[in-house]
Amino acid sequence: MADRAHPVTEQRHAELRSPLPEDERNLPVDVHWLRRRAKQFASVSQRDFHLVLDLAAYASISGMPFLSHYAAQVYLGPKSARLKVPLMAVNLQLVTTREEADRALAHETMHLVVPSYGHKAAAFARAQLLLDQVGQLTASPA
Ligand SMILES: [Zn+2]
Repeated sequence: MADRAHPVTEQRHAELRSPLPEDERNLPVDVHWLRRRAKQFASVSQRDFHLVLDLAAYASISGMPFLSHYAAQVYLGPKSARLKVPLMAVNLQLVTTREEADRALAHETMHLVVPSYGHKAAAFARAQLLLDQVGQLTASPA
């Protein structure tokens, strides 16, 4: 799920559009903002998850190394004992702007909601829908 090596997948990921106003997209990601944002994705997707920023802890729980080129990853638990609330690790070394964070959150939340979609076009259409829904959630009232 962290595999974004395929150029088509890279391209589709890069084309995800953050609903943030242009002047906020390049703002740095701080933990407080990211946690609030993650809750919004959990809310619109109706799929709760724990945001994990301690990658060593994540690797230890998931039993898989979190490679330094991974931007983000989700862990559902072993097939026989799925976690009630899955984990989502975000690598703040790579996810440095709010726009990148939005893409990463949408991408990984999509994997939680429609795991069978893989990295197909439909998967990214769903990720974009999540971004649009977060945008509506946070739109300031007229
Ligand atoms: Zn993925």
